[in-house]
Amino acid sequence: MNKKKIENRRQFLAGFAAVTGATTLGPNITLAATQEDKYVIAAPKVISMEIAGTDERFPVRRVFCLGRNYRAHAIESGDNPDETPPFFFIKPRDAVIESRDGFPYPPMTNELRYEGEMVVALSSGGTNIRPADALSHVYAYGIGLDMTREDLQHNAQDLSRPWAISKSFDNSAPCGPLHTVVKNGHAETGRIWLSVNGVVKQDSDLALQRWSVAEGIAILSQYYELSAGDIIMTGTPEGIGLVEKNDVIKCGIEGLGEIEVRIT
Ligand code: MN
Repeated sequence: MNKKKIENRRQFLAGFAAVTGATTLGPNITLAATQEDKYVIAAPKVISMEIAGTDERFPVRRVFCLGRNYRAHAIESGDNPDETPPFFFIKPRDAVIESRDGFPYPPMTNELRYEGEMVVALSSGGTNIRPADALSHVYAYGIGLDMTREDLQHNAQDLSRPWAISKSFDNSAPCGPLHTVVKNGHAETGRIWLSVNGVVKQDSDLALQRWSVAEGIAILSQYYELSAGDIIMTGTPEGIGLVEKNDVIKCGIEGLGEIEVRIT
């Protein structure tokens, strides 16, 4: 760099510093004054999911969940599936934990319920996505459990109150690794099953989802602007039930392997 260029760069950095508050360390080095420097507490940590076969991670933005997305489960839950469509609720992103680490029995409940589900991870999003375009936003699929404090859910339902505390509590979404579309393709049909201590409790097929993955994304995108990092838990089939401390849940989906979650 000649003298004139260096001088130009000095002036540029001085101007940059004046505008941004950046600290100029030398002609070619600046330490940007970022917003992070001004946080009064440590910033919340990024929650991320394992990607099968790599050491890369999928950072999670939001966790959308589908309710009553299998006909037989809607019926066992007291819905008439001919009259009531599936619906959405949300868990906080830090509900997502690694399935292999086990699931700590949560406080304030005596009725802990398992729900085995397929998880869809988005690498892009938007609003009013057409069903025909929806799968182009899917990055990967995985297996997760939508753990539920059933007694709190029933209390909330009886009182017509929101059931956030029954669904959206700490650690309530133990998940296994994600399997990318690039390597594994899309998961549209295939057996989904769950066992407790070796006894099969749920046994269905992804093809029986009332809203397909594409339809779920399309409908959700009418209500929210979907974005990279959003994940969708696509609902559980029939056969939900309760678990106790030390029970071992296994959940599998054809083509996505299986996860094992010990209640600790
Ligand atoms: Mn569920």
